[in-house]
Amino acid sequence: AKKGGRNTYRFYTESLTEVANQRVAMEVALRQGLERGEFLLHYQPLIDMSSMRPVGVEALLRWQRPGAGLVPPGQFIPLAEETGLILPLGEFVLGAACSQMKRWLEAGADIETVAVNLSAHQFHQADIAQRVAAILEETGLPPGYLELEITESALMDFGEEAETRLRALKDLGLRLAIDDFGTGYSSLAYLKRFPIDKIKVDQSFVRDIPHDTADMEIVATVVAMAKNLNLQVLAEGVETEAQLAYLRHLKCDAAQGYLFSRPVPPLEFPPLWNAVLGF
Ligand code: C2E
Ligand code: CA
Ligand code: CA
Ligand code: CA
Repeated sequence: AKKGGRNTYRFYTESLTEVANQRVAMEVALRQGLERGEFLLHYQPLIDMSSMRPVGVEALLRWQRPGAGLVPPGQFIPLAEETGLILPLGEFVLGAACSQMKRWLEAGADIETVAVNLSAHQFHQADIAQRVAAILEETGLPPGYLELEITESALMDFGEEAETRLRALKDLGLRLAIDDFGTGYSSLAYLKRFPIDKIKVDQSFVRDIPHDTADMEIVATVVAMAKNLNLQVLAEGVETEAQLAYLRHLKCDAAQGYLFSRPVPPLEFPPLWNAVLGF
């Protein structure tokens, strides 16, 4: 029993070491990947519900990691956040998304918005507005085309400062969206105080429509509230015709989800949009 106990203990410490090694390896790989240009963006259309046309795109980060294929953000963003690598990574995303949007506009694309996810870490930088301004200037994208998505939790963790920071960003002439709305367990008071343009209803509330009546009530309430506050409202994760029908019935402004398109590489977009989306 004693021997078994010791073996168990040794096994346990070895696996902890193993986990730590994997983290270090991953961090090194992330750093190198950034230097070597292994990161890229895919884009998913944002659909206007009255015209049923794509009016914008959300940029979503991917890592083309040698030997590992295309790695989704869920597998590396948390570590990038912890290690601070999200800052250079986030600057890459902003720059790449703004220049892509500029090229699309020059090619005559009829879209209004490129939405970029801003991590909590980025948002907490005191000079974030200057950084965004610099990128807009470098890429030549008029600020009105850029929408920054900030999660409810990133805002809430930040207390009073959040409002100042949002105003500084808003003053650049861009638009602000609250991402994953409804998951932050926060007070709703901020909605009328902060200079926000749009809320994105989290996909967890959309997923079980039309079977989960509680979710349907929540979405109806959020859409109604957004309208009363003069905020745009978009539903995320729309996968079925039934979900689409319900959201249209609620007069939700916009939607995004696999029903319309998965996130796709930029070359497919937007020249082939109409073909891809069947419009
Ligand atoms: P998010 O910002 O909420 O982005 C939406 C996620 O839902 C994307 O996953 C998208 O591919 C996925 N999605 C879209 N439509 C559907 C649908 O109909 N059904 C389902 N089940 N999923 C759908 P993705 O690309 O894996 O990104 C995951 C998360 O990673 C994002 O969630 C965002 O929080 C983060 N992320 C992605 N790119 C960036 C980035 O450039 N910077 C930062 N800070 N975070 C990013
Ligand atoms: Ca987002
Ligand atoms: Ca979201
Ligand atoms: Ca549910």
